[in-house]
Amino acid sequence: MVVITWNFRYRVFFRKLRDHIQWQFSQTLLTLRSLTYNEHMSQNYAIDILLEPIFWIVDNFAKYLGKVFVFCVSVLTTAVVIIAYWVGLPYWWERSPKTTIFLIIFGNWLLLNIIFHYYMGIVTSPGNPPHGAMITEAASICKKCISPKPPRTHHCSVCDKCILNMDHHCPWLNNCVGYYNARYFYLYMVYMVAGVTFVIVAGIDLGYQVLWVNDTGGIIPNNDPDLIGHPLRMNQSGILVPVKVIDEYDSEHFPREHDLTVPPFTEAQRITAHPWKRKAVLFMAIICVSVLFALGTLTVSHGRNISRGETSIESHINMRIRKSQPNFKNPYDFGRKKNWRLFLGLIQGRTFLRHVLLPSSHKPAGTGLSWHSVHNTIEDWP
Ligand SMILES: [Zn+2]
Ligand SMILES: [Zn+2]
Repeated sequence: MVVITWNFRYRVFFRKLRDHIQWQFSQTLLTLRSLTYNEHMSQNYAIDILLEPIFWIVDNFAKYLGKVFVFCVSVLTTAVVIIAYWVGLPYWWERSPKTTIFLIIFGNWLLLNIIFHYYMGIVTSPGNPPHGAMITEAASICKKCISPKPPRTHHCSVCDKCILNMDHHCPWLNNCVGYYNARYFYLYMVYMVAGVTFVIVAGIDLGYQVLWVNDTGGIIPNNDPDLIGHPLRMNQSGILVPVKVIDEYDSEHFPREHDLTVPPFTEAQRITAHPWKRKAVLFMAIICVSVLFALGTLTVSHGRNISRGETSIESHINMRIRKSQPNFKNPYDFGRKKNWRLFLGLIQGRTFLRHVLLPSSHKPAGTGLSWHSVHNTIEDWP
């Protein structure tokens, strides 16, 4: 009898299969590589390629996004001002007409500066290097504009232009912040922070009354804050008797049934009872506190840059240089006081009172094309 034995060599089969798959894979990889070969391939190049879609979005939509942002800022600012008059004014008028008049004058001074600096920040060009002109101090060539780049100038990919003394591209202004509009940009932030602080300080008690205490004085029945303790009534002999049946102490009928004088409603109670005014107070609280934190931190960090005589871009560049050269000194740092005077344009007899506290359209000193530095100060330098 013949015994049939199946002699299937598992090991050989699987090794052959593995070799075949490996060969196929390496062939595919080689084909792909030969099709996409680039001699200049490096990590930076790969990152550039991967970031390409982001740049495309920025290039194509940043301008529209900027317009949407400006619209949103304008609408929100208008809403805050309208609510301040609609809700805040009657509340303060009831408390003190004199204080109200002061608040109206002070608030409108802040508002005037906010509108002026925001508008000027949007419409003032930050400044671009002139085409075809000789720039004696050109530090480098812009690869995108193919033209000389003065010191402190940087290319903005959103504006697709070189910007003198570029700080950053600001979507909230739909404009680059640079040489000619940096002061408007910074003072806008300062006045905006002052403005929301003003609204918070003037409205903090109203916000507490309306959002926390939530007392409508009976305008909305049974909406009053819970009383602490146990209800009592007094009997003929003057002894206090606890109220056990809650009908005896009905807040809806209690004062009127007994002909007691009902105190007049306060404005805070009327606001609490008004569905839209109460929502408006909540809206103000959220907007003003968020703007205070967001713009407050930005104002402080930009103020620190101004004190050091740096733009936002330079603060990043200089930070990197300082890591490798601890003795590096920013050549445009003339000391805190002078840096601020130069930034605010407080030269040639200009005063803080007239040119910072009130709207002023004076231009910065110089051209933005060449710069004085700590190494080359000349006599007429302010
Ligand atoms: Zn450029
Ligand atoms: Zn820009």
